[in-house]
Amino acid sequence: MNSDYLRRHRAHDVEALLERWVAVARGAGLDMVELRPGVPYLRTRGPWCEERAVYLSAGIHGDEPAGTEGLIGWAESRIDWLRSASCLIIPCFNPDGLRQNTRRDATGTDLNREFHHTRNPLISAWRERMEGMRFRLALCLHEDYDATGTYLYELGEVGESIGNECLDACAEFIPRESRAEVEGMAMDRGLLFHGGDLLALLEEMEEGLPEAIYLRVHHAVTALTFETPSEFGLDLRVAAQVRCIEAALRLTGLV
Ligand SMILES: [Zn+2]
Repeated sequence: MNSDYLRRHRAHDVEALLERWVAVARGAGLDMVELRPGVPYLRTRGPWCEERAVYLSAGIHGDEPAGTEGLIGWAESRIDWLRSASCLIIPCFNPDGLRQNTRRDATGTDLNREFHHTRNPLISAWRERMEGMRFRLALCLHEDYDATGTYLYELGEVGESIGNECLDACAEFIPRESRAEVEGMAMDRGLLFHGGDLLALLEEMEEGLPEAIYLRVHHAVTALTFETPSEFGLDLRVAAQVRCIEAALRLTGLV
């Protein structure tokens, strides 16, 4: 699609990525502060509207660069909207991992299995920061080496699923996952929707709790985990990530 992009991208250059976020923060009037040294987040400075608040995060797995690239690309295209939005954005949850192209952080921890306790200092700082916050939409951006298309874990209210439309919106760039089962869970053309009670799901999470489930239980009306297939071209994966963010915001009435 765009060979120029593929030649020039700096998807694992954390400093270059964060420089772009500094420009977004400046342009949109967002505060950019550190959750922990080297791990910044951006937050609306002005009035906060809980019903319209959005949480966006990327890069908790460092070998999934379309998430971090998609998030910054989307933000750069939405400076005006960000100026009046209520948002909390984590541009890169695992900078060491992104730098090294590894799923885990520098201590060998899979951060996305750490949300059930506070022994990890970064997750502990995150949980503290999130205390009392509510969001209409939380979106966590990921990638998967085994995937053959885009897929989505959607946690939300029964009867209010937006997942099918999000995946359809991305199909211009990458088709929906066709496998009937992903990581042991049944999927319908790339969608796994879970409405209402999460207790059964929590019991299945023997490996440790991911960000999106914690968000849905404590902070968000809808929590989405979006995944692009890592074997597709980075340009297409980034385009799909941008499209998914945009579709999710539109379908929840936030843009
Ligand atoms: Zn991931």
